[in-house]
Amino acid sequence: MITRFGLRNFSSATSKKVGFMGLGNMGFSMMRNCMSHGYEITAYDVDDKILEKAEELGAKIAPDVKAAATDQDFCLTMLPNTDIVEQTRMGSNGIFENAREGAYIIDSSTISPSASRKMAEEGAKLGFKVADAPVSGGVTGAEAGTLTFMVGCKKDHFDGVKDFLMSMGSNVFHCGAPGTGQTSKICNNLMLAIQMMAVSEGLALGEKLGIDPAVLSKICSTSTSSCWTLNTYNPRPGILEGVPSSNNYDGGFGVSLIKKDLSIVLDSAAEVNLDLQFGTKAIEFYHELERQGKGNKDFGIVYQYINSLEKK
Ligand code: NAD
Repeated sequence: MITRFGLRNFSSATSKKVGFMGLGNMGFSMMRNCMSHGYEITAYDVDDKILEKAEELGAKIAPDVKAAATDQDFCLTMLPNTDIVEQTRMGSNGIFENAREGAYIIDSSTISPSASRKMAEEGAKLGFKVADAPVSGGVTGAEAGTLTFMVGCKKDHFDGVKDFLMSMGSNVFHCGAPGTGQTSKICNNLMLAIQMMAVSEGLALGEKLGIDPAVLSKICSTSTSSCWTLNTYNPRPGILEGVPSSNNYDGGFGVSLIKKDLSIVLDSAAEVNLDLQFGTKAIEFYHELERQGKGNKDFGIVYQYINSLEKK
């Protein structure tokens, strides 16, 4: 049955309880899909307007983290960054102080792998089943319930984590011990950030040398440079319909978010004494775009910046 909010109403075969914290661009849709699979949601966000929308969908509203975390089977966080996740989990009146023993404590934000590992160690001492489960698939994947989850957790906890996450995604991978989900995510995003710049340079050069960028894109998509940013997320406006580059770079994956992920990448590389030269160059480009006030634009806007650079 479809409800007036467009939710598919699955029977409440699972009436498991979830404390859902962080209902932004990603979290709100994830919460809705979770709810449509029969989970009972208690929602918390610092933004009251978002909470009103969650209440309209049928979620219980929590006034603080404590109320969201108490007596839940699952506590899921989908928050902006490492500091906020640490505060929400380990701060005073946070999840670790209030969740019941044996609860699954899952974080789907993109944060530091080493911080995730340390939080998992602390959580395990308190009897929680802790997992890092960052996602790929963006806002459209969150809406459609087709996210890919990369999970770092103890092997024994994975089946329970997977059952729950399948309400919001279509692929759930066990990457290994706690922290390895975040490691997978930041390595993916390092490759993605550089790939976007490589595609942008190729398209900018080709067009200036006189080839139609649509023709070049088609050729490259069946050649050795074929990749996701070229084939399905092309940053040159007018090549593909329905992608951010053809919508003034609105929607999509923000410059500030890819920059945040690159700074986690570089901190993580420093922890293992690895000098990532392409990653270091990439963050300079996304940082410059943020400085120009384009932090909320889709990261494909790096194409415009690269296309505007002239040799001195
Ligand atoms: P967002 O900024 O839209 O949402 C974050 C939400 O957290 C907001 O509603 C905000 O009010 C809330 N919040 C902030 N501080 C809080 C606190 N202390 N307690 C409770 N709520 C708080 O971000 P998003 O795009 O939904 O991304 C969330 C996470 O997912 C980030 O870590 C991001 O890197 C990651 N991610 C985003 C995408 C994407 O395409 N947007 C894709 C994959 C992963």
